[in-house]
Amino acid sequence: MFVFVCAGCGAELTAPLSQAALPVHARQKYGNAVQLPALMKPGTFAVDPEPSGPPWRRWEEITPDEAAARGIYAPVHALSDGAPGAIVIAPGDTRNTALLPKKRGGACCGIDGADGPNMACMSCGLPAASRIDDCSLWQAVWLAPDAVRRLPAEGTEDTPLSWAELVDNEKGTPPFEPMTMVWGSRLGLNSFWSWSPQWEAAAGQALAHLLAASQGQPVTVPNGLTSQMFQRALDALLPAGGTKRPAVLAGPDLPVPDKDADILLVPVHPQTGQTWNPPDSATSAYRIPLPFEVWQWMIHPEPHLPTLASGVMPDGVFRDDPPAPPPHQLFRTDRGAFQHTLVRLPAARAPWLRQILENLTQHIQTGIF
Ligand SMILES: [Zn+2]
Ligand SMILES: [Zn+2]
Repeated sequence: MFVFVCAGCGAELTAPLSQAALPVHARQKYGNAVQLPALMKPGTFAVDPEPSGPPWRRWEEITPDEAAARGIYAPVHALSDGAPGAIVIAPGDTRNTALLPKKRGGACCGIDGADGPNMACMSCGLPAASRIDDCSLWQAVWLAPDAVRRLPAEGTEDTPLSWAELVDNEKGTPPFEPMTMVWGSRLGLNSFWSWSPQWEAAAGQALAHLLAASQGQPVTVPNGLTSQMFQRALDALLPAGGTKRPAVLAGPDLPVPDKDADILLVPVHPQTGQTWNPPDSATSAYRIPLPFEVWQWMIHPEPHLPTLASGVMPDGVFRDDPPAPPPHQLFRTDRGAFQHTLVRLPAARAPWLRQILENLTQHIQTGIF
């Protein structure tokens, strides 16, 4: 475990924390005026290896070679020239910090950190972190990489869980969940059931990889939830004719995939961020990464979703809540996660993938994103 201390005075600015993989939905902007929960589990932190925050450079100012050296293979609006390595934690894990009320950013009903760090070390006043709590953003505190240092916390050691331990102990993320609006909707309701934002972000990352793996040929995914998540987008973005290559689910607790299976939907370890490898690791199959919690639900769905409830039931009375209503909308892929992933794949240099990126607005209108 680690604590993060102020680079100015050495004061501890966090509780002791264990490292976790950066969630796919870390920078997601979801819906309109929706309240999202905390991004990170208590007691954990994750690192974004890329530069983040201002100053920004527009795409026209960057040469293709420079972009490729940064791992970007297709045009983006702008790239951050900020420091790499921002650290994200749960808001409750901060210590000894105070909000800087003037740095509220261009936020709508909360604060978004767009003006630079909005939290300072209480011992020396160094601006050290950004609290994010605006609508449509995940609740988080991002520590500025050049304002903190990471020190080992004494007497504790982290060993990542094995894949078998994860499958046995970690819960999956349900595909539908109740969402809460900050302001209430036209119908006067302030909550509704929707596809999970985490599933939509996971789909964005995975769809970019599925397109790269497809090499422009049609691809199918397993029936059921996986199909609801991907097939409409795959059918719209890939040609219709010819033999469809199957992408199959693989991972710990599943039979070893067929030798012919060359596109595998596999989990990413939630602590190390490593993508699962088949036991025969010499395989040349393309591994499509899915966040472990989403993959876990696909493999081990739980039969009844929890429903919102208040109050205490009298003794001897059992709940028989109706099942959660299915979302009214077809599944939509998170555009931000899709674009973020695809421009970072060398395959994005291919003209047909370039065209998909250029036509994103059109695909948003058809409801894929
Ligand atoms: Zn708002
Ligand atoms: Zn300080």
